[in-house]
Amino acid sequence: MGDFKKPYIVVSKCLGFAHCRYNGHMISDDFVKELHSFVNFNPVCPEVEIGLGVPRNPIRIVSNKGKTKLMQSVTNKDITDTMNNFAKTFLNSLDNIDGFILKNRSPSCGIKDVRIYPGIGKVASISKSTGFFGDAVLRKFPYFPVEDEGRLRNHRIKEHFLKKVFAFTKFSELKKSGSMDDLIKFHTKNKFLLMAYNQRSLKILGNIVANKKKKKIEELMEDYEKIFQYCFSKSPRYTSDINMLIHALGYFKKELSSKEKNFLLNSLQQYKMGRIPLCVPISIIKSWIIRFGQEYLMSQTFFEPYPEALIRCFPITDAEKNRDFWK
Ligand code: SF4
Repeated sequence: MGDFKKPYIVVSKCLGFAHCRYNGHMISDDFVKELHSFVNFNPVCPEVEIGLGVPRNPIRIVSNKGKTKLMQSVTNKDITDTMNNFAKTFLNSLDNIDGFILKNRSPSCGIKDVRIYPGIGKVASISKSTGFFGDAVLRKFPYFPVEDEGRLRNHRIKEHFLKKVFAFTKFSELKKSGSMDDLIKFHTKNKFLLMAYNQRSLKILGNIVANKKKKKIEELMEDYEKIFQYCFSKSPRYTSDINMLIHALGYFKKELSSKEKNFLLNSLQQYKMGRIPLCVPISIIKSWIIRFGQEYLMSQTFFEPYPEALIRCFPITDAEKNRDFWK
C-alpha cells in the first residue's frame, strides 16, 4: 500500500536537537524521536537565532495599552522587532515545507496558551495567546499542519497531524509532476480519506478534476490545492471515520462470516469509546483487503495515510489516558 516521501518539518530546536532553552536544557519528546526516521527535520531556535545566547534571561510577552511586545524580563530589552524580522526572513526562506512541530507555551514558538503579562516584574499573567514566532507561522501557513508537542500527546490530534502532513507531502510531489493523469490518480486514491474529512470539499475537488471548463493543468492544480488544504483544516469527526470503515466493510459482505463482521463492529465501538486508536479497526479491514485482494480499497490512502510503522506512536495502553479523545 504505502510509498511515502519524507515530509519536511520545521521543529523547535529544543525538542531534542540542542540544549538551547533559556536554562540550557533540552526537552526529550517521544513523538519527535519516533518521527526521526520518517521525516526531514529542520530544527530552529528563534531565540538563539536572534542572538540571545544560552543560557539567557527568560523572555515574556507583555501587553501594554492593547499592544503586545516581546520583552526580556531582567534586562527590560524589547526584542519584538528583532523576533518579527527573524520570523519573516526565516519563513520566507522556506521552500517545500510540509508542517511544523513547535514547543508549547513558549513566548516565541508557542501556538496556543502562551501567557501574557501586564509588565516585566513579578506580576501574574492576565491572558493567553500565541508566541511571536508561532503566530508568524500560523499567519503565513494558515492551512498547514502546525502543532505543538503538548497537543500532540493527544491521540486524535496526533492522528490528524500525521494524516495531514503525509497528505500534503504527497500533494507536493503531485505538483512537481504537473500531470493531469497523476492528478486524477491522486484524487481517486484519496477519495475515502477526503470523504472522511469533508464530503462537500470532496465534491468540489471532483468537479475540479472533471475540468469541464478545460483549464490548464497549472490552474487546476492551484484550484485543487486550495480546496485540498481547506479539506484538512479540521480533524474529521470520529463518526466520519467509523462511517468510512462501515462503508469499507460493505465491500466484503459476501466473504465475511457474521462473527468476523461483529469483530470489526465491536472494535469500532471500542474506538468510539476512546479505548483504542483508529489504527486498530483500520488494521482489521486492511487484513481483509489483503486476504481478498480488494484492489480498489488497497489503493485508498485512508487505510494507510502515513507509514505503518508510525502506529507505534499510538500505544494502546495510552488510549485510556486520552479520555478527552473526542472532546
Ligand atoms: S521554545 Fe523555541 S525559542 Fe524557546 S528554546 Fe525552544 S526552540 Fe528556542
